[in-house]
Amino acid sequence: MSKDRNTPSKKPKPTWKVPLEDHKALKIEEPSKLAGGMPAIMTSLSETTKEMGVLRGGKALLKANQQGGFDCPGCAWPDPDDDRAITEFCENGVKAIAHEATTKVITEEFFQRWSIEALGQQSDYWLNQQGRLGHPMVKEAGGTHYRPIAWEDAFIKMAKHLHALEDPNEAIFYTSGRTSNEAAFLYQLFARMYGTNNLPDSSNMCHESSSVALKEVIGIGKSTVTLEDFQHADAIFILGQNPGTNHPRMLATLQQAARRGCQIVSINPLPEAGTTRFIHPQEFTTWLGHGTPLATLFLPVKVNGDVALLKGLMKELLEREEQQPGTILDTAFIQQYTDGFEHFARALRQVSWDDIVEGSGIPREDIHKAVDLVVNAKSIICTWAMGMTQHKNAVANMQEIINFLLLRGNIGRQGAGPCPVRGHSNVQGDRTMGITENPAPEFLETLGKVFDFHPPRQRGHDAVRGIKAMHEGRAKVFIALGGNFLSATPDTDYTAEALTRCRLTVHISTKLNRAHLVTGNEALILPALGRTDKDNPNGNLQYVTTENTMGIVQASQGQLEPVSPDIKSEIYIVGNLAKDTLAYRKGPGSRINWDHLMDNYDEIRSLISQTILGFENYTKRVQHPGGFYLPNPVRDSRTFLTSTNKANFTVHPLPKITREPGQLLMTTIRSHDQYNTTIYGLDDRYRGVKSGRRVILMNQADMEERGLAKGDLVDITSHHEGHTRTAEQFTVIPYPIPRTCVATYFPEANVLVPIDSVADKSNTPTSKSIVVTVHRHS
Ligand code: SF4
Repeated sequence: MSKDRNTPSKKPKPTWKVPLEDHKALKIEEPSKLAGGMPAIMTSLSETTKEMGVLRGGKALLKANQQGGFDCPGCAWPDPDDDRAITEFCENGVKAIAHEATTKVITEEFFQRWSIEALGQQSDYWLNQQGRLGHPMVKEAGGTHYRPIAWEDAFIKMAKHLHALEDPNEAIFYTSGRTSNEAAFLYQLFARMYGTNNLPDSSNMCHESSSVALKEVIGIGKSTVTLEDFQHADAIFILGQNPGTNHPRMLATLQQAARRGCQIVSINPLPEAGTTRFIHPQEFTTWLGHGTPLATLFLPVKVNGDVALLKGLMKELLEREEQQPGTILDTAFIQQYTDGFEHFARALRQVSWDDIVEGSGIPREDIHKAVDLVVNAKSIICTWAMGMTQHKNAVANMQEIINFLLLRGNIGRQGAGPCPVRGHSNVQGDRTMGITENPAPEFLETLGKVFDFHPPRQRGHDAVRGIKAMHEGRAKVFIALGGNFLSATPDTDYTAEALTRCRLTVHISTKLNRAHLVTGNEALILPALGRTDKDNPNGNLQYVTTENTMGIVQASQGQLEPVSPDIKSEIYIVGNLAKDTLAYRKGPGSRINWDHLMDNYDEIRSLISQTILGFENYTKRVQHPGGFYLPNPVRDSRTFLTSTNKANFTVHPLPKITREPGQLLMTTIRSHDQYNTTIYGLDDRYRGVKSGRRVILMNQADMEERGLAKGDLVDITSHHEGHTRTAEQFTVIPYPIPRTCVATYFPEANVLVPIDSVADKSNTPTSKSIVVTVHRHS
């Protein structure tokens, strides 16, 4: 570690590379077939006591996801509308809360001791372990360390940099999915008053494909089902999703459904414990049992074989309808509510069964079994996550799901519909608040009227375009409201270079992460309050609001004293940034009383009420226990606000990914000790991986073909349009994954995801289907 401030080391080491690990520490066990239960309870207890202590931990957890409490900063799974249990959280929610509410604080001395370069040599796990950021910090031009800066000087620095840009489009304002509705609304207002739509957000890397796909074919880019619908579904299809790790409370919902006889079908390349069996941690009497079986059918589809499989399910339905007309499809629904069925059916008849079986990897008899379940189910819900959204053909994936649902009228009625499950607690709300590079003209019109200005109309940068703009020198100031931009985005080397080319990088964060260590010429880290923290501007306790994955808006009030007085709310930070920056311009932004908004969040909600449909009487309605549902025309009245005013059937080709002999298709996944880019531990309990993350899960036959054995070290090379990228030293683990498919954890494998490999229409990085080769490490 360097202790010599501002003396550059002779050979600077890259700070963006996730360090290699001691692969000898890695332990490989059999994957588990059971989620929840005692291990989940033990982990929750240990994380609580280790990070928060018993008293602080108990105080926090008893208020998690409760009326009058705070919204879990983990995923966007909803809370029950009615009575709630005393413990409305899961193991991974506990990890998210414990690591945010930790009593450990990073001091100014910490940054004196550790140079940025030395911090870069530490693992992501180690960085997260250091505790909450406690003070605003700056890295000056040429500096090797962060040093303290006063809040007002930080705002002036940002304002000066923004003022110095020749064009507002040289600034990028990124948002992560934790940001509250109120902070997000102010942030987008500020960015647009400043003059740009450069508002990428974390959904560019995840459910952007869902939003684009659903908007086109059903007129709304969100789930149309509610939590209650799960109790009326006869079948639930879970596609490309690992709820046991990523939305664990969904398992309790699935368990209730399974117990009343609902059929659950899991479609995923990997068998996951969370869709196999579940012991509910709150059901003490079941702790020693074998748990509730969840999926009645598991279809181990090839990586990116979903379009082929869905075509197989639908072709089989069409064929059965032709054999028994009027008994299989909901022809009345199709006639009244949909457009394009004939064209769709004609195209589907042309697809061969050989191509379907080859493309999906699922034998025809298993497709038959799934269709037997479909025809016996009056109501079907399809849920999905990143396994569907991060492919070149991701938009087609979701539109095939909609085709599948439309065939039997499984949309806009009880117990049926599409349910994209969002991975971050307010990623959906941020979009509703206007965080998007491509705002609807009507939204801009209203925004302009309410605030008396002309919002920019030019489309802004999403995450990938923003990275390219920074890399090419077209963007010079990067401000991130939350998140870990470097680790969430593809092509780590390229993205790191892009960030280092900026004049100023700013991260508004709760914890230290790798993005802070890849700086522009100057850099700021601004410590922000988390969901668990009391937010008390000028002695007035405030609450914020969020929107969950089912479109319910609810209040969230922090309960714990912040661990440092120097930590500020996102609203304070955005408000002051706006105030100082817009003061340079004598426009309408300088007339807004930002102080007033920062002191009383009701005032922000009042402005949201005036601007965004569905938020009328916002403050009053959100105080109702459980909050309120946003309008959802599909769910509410089977109204499809599409170009045809109907739900649209669509036709998509079978995806063709060209692979040379010996090449494999890699998907990136999360471990169980990981939440998005935050690494809480080094285990992936359900998959039997302990004390390590640089692993590659491979089919045994693919290993043998390459002469590889369990525990061997390999380097992985990705191939895209004649370019290669390599990540070194991954341990091979034999795993029940379809042949020619492999899986690795992100962010370690992000370096392999080419910046130009993106989904059609949504521009989402294709992190779930990357062509790779593996070579023994020498
Ligand atoms: S399911 Fe998601 S929102 Fe609920 S407690 Fe777990 S992580 Fe938090």
